[in-house]
Amino acid sequence: MLPCRGPAQMITGLTVTGKQQGTMNRVMEVDIVIIGGGIAGLWLLNRLRAEDHAAILLEADTLGGAQTLASQGIIHGGLKYALNGRVSPASSAIAGMPARWRKALAGQDAVDLRGCRLLSPHYYMWSGGSLRSRLKTFLGSRALRGRIDPVAPTEQPAFLRDSARPGRLYQLEDFVVDTPDLLRRLSSLQSRAIFRGADIRLHSIDHNRIQVELSGKTGKVQLDTTTLLLCAGEGNASLLQQLGQETPAMQRRPLHMVCVKGRKLPEAFLHCIGEDFGMTPKITISTHPAPDGSRYWYLGGELAESGLALEPAEQQQRAASWLQQLFPGIDFSDAQWSSFFIDRAEPATTDGRRPDSAYVHEQGPLITCWPSKLTLCPDLGDQVIDCLSRRQLSTGQPQGDITVLDSLLHRPELANAPWEELLP
Ligand SMILES: Cc1cc2nc3c(=O)[nH]c(=O)nc-3n(C[C@H](O)[C@H](O)[C@H](O)COP(=O)(O)OP(=O)(O)OC[C@H]3O[C@@H](n4cnc5c(N)ncnc54)[C@H](O)[C@@H]3O)c2cc1C
Repeated sequence: MLPCRGPAQMITGLTVTGKQQGTMNRVMEVDIVIIGGGIAGLWLLNRLRAEDHAAILLEADTLGGAQTLASQGIIHGGLKYALNGRVSPASSAIAGMPARWRKALAGQDAVDLRGCRLLSPHYYMWSGGSLRSRLKTFLGSRALRGRIDPVAPTEQPAFLRDSARPGRLYQLEDFVVDTPDLLRRLSSLQSRAIFRGADIRLHSIDHNRIQVELSGKTGKVQLDTTTLLLCAGEGNASLLQQLGQETPAMQRRPLHMVCVKGRKLPEAFLHCIGEDFGMTPKITISTHPAPDGSRYWYLGGELAESGLALEPAEQQQRAASWLQQLFPGIDFSDAQWSSFFIDRAEPATTDGRRPDSAYVHEQGPLITCWPSKLTLCPDLGDQVIDCLSRRQLSTGQPQGDITVLDSLLHRPELANAPWEELLP
């Protein structure tokens, strides 16, 4: 039997009130509802609940299963946006983010990431010999003075000395998080406030309230809220449509990512700077452990951006040939290859290029969020807290008792990373 009965009753702890309508529909009131369980929704849930806001999160499918687990987990300081020697708005907005993440990892931020595993404490930029790639690297290093250190040849990882074309290596302040572990950490800290919400339908009740209707364990559940945070990545577009909202507009930037699995792959965390005039690294490599003791290399950068018209087999062949040119000494003979297409979902920009910072758009009870990058989540959190501080939301409520929702809704699972799915 449901504990929420009768008119708008207060459920202990969470600022949730509820009443039963008919036999199957349950109507509850929740201060803040977050839709989407990727990094944006999970980061905000942690940030808001740490600041005593009564928030819950609804995920339609699995946690992290869209863009977040497909990301390379690089927490950028902006260097790859400064290869032309100029610090653009993108590179300056992002510059403070590695330090913010390091605070969170040390337990000194509202979002507590203590114990979250790093795949690498540093990310590196490597220019493979040609004059032009060296020039780009040099200009980038000048633009980001103090945030990039040349690595002496004697200090370089053995595989670069022994197996790669001659080149220069720079250590960036960037680092790489293990995204599955990051999601585990963020979701386990707030597991009681995270629910699976299939078939979500949104209805405007009035200028100040939205009703979120979803399928629960025994029937429809309706959550009324004065603050709805849309953190559904690509899904934001159709959720906005349900409310008849044409803005904010979304853009997709497609990628054709490549995964390689092999026993002889060394650990590499590298932007390989190309020889053309492009400002995107030719290949961006991150390394991920496989359960059988081998390694995955996950490949993005210009390879992924310029491989959209290629069939998977062609893209994989191209990746193999580029890697062989860059690292002639690495043995790829036992490597398995795969690739897949994925879109980055972001707020639309006038020229279709990447946005410069996290994006938050407020429209009555609706707050639409796109972090634009994993890296920019602390910025996203700050912007959302600013929005909420202008609202009359009560804080300081105890947040323990959400058992009433527990009896109505399922819990979502954590997704697998794409390289594990594609090359088990
Ligand atoms: C290939 C790739 C590599 C990247 N590498 C990096 C990197 O190295 N560093 C970096 O900083 N950034 C990187 N990014 C960008 C970064 O991954 C994204 O900006 C970030 O993950 C977006 O997070 P999100 O939570 O907004 O969206 P998502 O991760 O897409 O999550 C959205 C969630 O909402 C759910 N959802 C959708 N519709 C609904 C609905 N109707 N109801 C309920 N739930 C719904 C989805 O199931 C999903 O779980 C990369 C992106 C890609 C694609």
